[in-house]
Amino acid sequence: DAGTRELIERRERVLGESYRLFYRSPVHLVRGEGAHLWDAEGRRYLDMYNNVASLGHCHPAVIDAVDRQMRMLNTHTRYVHETIVDYSERLLATMPAELGKAMYMCTGSEANDLAMRVARAFSGGEGILVTREAYHGTSDLTSGASPALGSGQPLAATTRIIEAPDAYRVDTDDIGHWFADQVRSGIADLELSGIRFAGLMIDSIFSSDGVLPGTRGMLREAVEVVHAAGGVLIADEVQPGFGRTGESFWGFGRHGLVPDLVTLGKPMGNGIPVSGLVARPEVLAAFSDSIPYFNTFGGNPVSMAAASAVLDTIQSEGLQQHSAEVGAELLAAYADLADRHPAIGDVRGAGLFIGCELVSDPATKQPDRGLALAVLEELRSRGVLTSVAGPHGNVLKLRPPLAFDRGDIDWAVGALDDSLTALGA
Ligand code: PMP
Repeated sequence: DAGTRELIERRERVLGESYRLFYRSPVHLVRGEGAHLWDAEGRRYLDMYNNVASLGHCHPAVIDAVDRQMRMLNTHTRYVHETIVDYSERLLATMPAELGKAMYMCTGSEANDLAMRVARAFSGGEGILVTREAYHGTSDLTSGASPALGSGQPLAATTRIIEAPDAYRVDTDDIGHWFADQVRSGIADLELSGIRFAGLMIDSIFSSDGVLPGTRGMLREAVEVVHAAGGVLIADEVQPGFGRTGESFWGFGRHGLVPDLVTLGKPMGNGIPVSGLVARPEVLAAFSDSIPYFNTFGGNPVSMAAASAVLDTIQSEGLQQHSAEVGAELLAAYADLADRHPAIGDVRGAGLFIGCELVSDPATKQPDRGLALAVLEELRSRGVLTSVAGPHGNVLKLRPPLAFDRGDIDWAVGALDDSLTALGA
């Protein structure tokens, strides 16, 4: 379409080159509602990518809350205001009792950046362990701990990579013990370099490692190793948080863990930029007692109002339960598809967070990145928007707004069926 082509040209003239667009022929979006998006030509898409608009695009509860608060007051954390206290009480009530303090910022990167600083202040160490394909943010500290950024972005000298607990690819009877060994050798590697261990930072569903939901208890031994070595567990809940994984409100809850630091972002404000750090008070005190922290927009009344409306709506619309139920049906439908398409090597997930691994041969599990990229384009031509993840770039990451309902399952699964058939896979 000529209008979109012209817009892309204008965009290229004025925007920095680091921004990458999805798709050979990029999608030009103009509107969203629920789990659906519309392009400039009036075409409707099923959003299988977005965990930001978790309640659904343009949810009226958030719009109303923001509008109301915007007309009343917006200020920062150097004044007393009620919204930040109200929200903190509600947020902490969703967490294990040990996690008693909250702080706010605007992006997941800032939350993880602060978490790393707090981990260092508390432990007296510098070394951070992350998984093979982890992504934790864009700041200097967090991009230095984000191997997903690739060779153009060197890791910090204090970062060590460990392998993620991939139950499909790792040959072991006890993935939890295997992962704990990864942590042990990461810590030993840091010590060999004379770097004291500060903490393990993980996203409990290992989203960019290819969506590895694992089983209950899988991470417990690893966390014992972290604590025995004097480090902290930073749970990056930017992806799995706020009910998405269905079984529990927080992704770490599925694993029966109590982290030392929890970072929040994306769905927290359903599109209004707001992020947070939740901590054990004694861990946070090691930082706050000596270092002041101010974030101009962090925790402002408007973002807190949006975040409150998100908590209200998850509860009033039963979205966590919905995610568990519809997610299980969607997972089963993809698993049926795997019976008919040998290219689907594995389907796994928790709630509405599903990974579908594409392979050239299910016996050898050889990853098929080329097929995954071709499938993305085929899905797009059938109106389904999603992305790929994992160290081999061959895992379809299927993560729609929680507003995704039963009526969308046929569209999502039918489009993958037809896409694989069209590609002869
Ligand atoms: N952590 C995880 C697991 C993420 O997926 C992301 C964003 N993709 C971030 C942190 C960074 O969040 P933001 O882009 O809001 O800075």
